[in-house]
Amino acid sequence: YYEQIQQSERLKTSGQLAAAVAHEIRNPLTVVKGFLQLYEKDKSFSSDQKRNFTLMIDELNMAEQVITQLLTMAKPEQEQAAEIVDVKDVLQSVTDLLHSYGLLHDNRIELKVTGDCTISANIIELKQLLINIIKNAIEASNYGELVIVTAEKEKEFVVIKVIDHGKGMSEEELAALGTPFYSLKSKGTGLGLMICFNIVEKYNGKIDFVSSKNQGTTTSICFPYYDKQSYFR
Ligand code: ADP
Ligand code: MG
Repeated sequence: YYEQIQQSERLKTSGQLAAAVAHEIRNPLTVVKGFLQLYEKDKSFSSDQKRNFTLMIDELNMAEQVITQLLTMAKPEQEQAAEIVDVKDVLQSVTDLLHSYGLLHDNRIELKVTGDCTISANIIELKQLLINIIKNAIEASNYGELVIVTAEKEKEFVVIKVIDHGKGMSEEELAALGTPFYSLKSKGTGLGLMICFNIVEKYNGKIDFVSSKNQGTTTSICFPYYDKQSYFR
């Protein structure tokens, strides 16, 4: 009984519980996937059977992705202290990172930053947010289309825009954004935007989407500007 109380103390917050559950589920998944990968190459199975193994592996990869995203959300607060960040640097590294992903469908990312774009946030979370949004823009784009990313200081805010000219969204689709597991992609988790909304809220920011079907989408994220001068004065 005492042990039980200790356990429940340890898993007090739902975040910690989610992290523990995710961890416990991930290990058996890894074992099962390992065997399937062996069978997939095993000559004693027919090609029909091997196709089924491939399907199973795909499904396990999906489950793994969901767990990874839940885990990143459940990380304890203290690891994610806010610091002074230059949005320009973060956008540069994020667009570099996603460059090759975009090239898979001949989508180029164009980056333009104007003015002093410093904010107070945790770099890892900021990257996570921007990667999710830019990835969505690439995934919505048609072959060869450009994704434009801009950042600009506007009065006491830093405004980041991610513009694509792809699929776009209807009113209904827009209203569903951020709902856990809402995804129109065959391999989507529907967790990306939920995570984004959480991060934006944490830093007193705002996020909004302007979109029309088959025209494209502009995602705007706005954070309070952090004045370095006032800090050192
Ligand atoms: P996922 O990308 O795994 O599907 P997200 O939470 O990132 O999950 O996005 C949820 C859904 O929102 C997507 O499946 C897609 O239908 C829609 N969406 C998000 N961004 C865009 C965009 N730039 N253009 C069109 N649809 C989008
Ligand atoms: Mg996504």
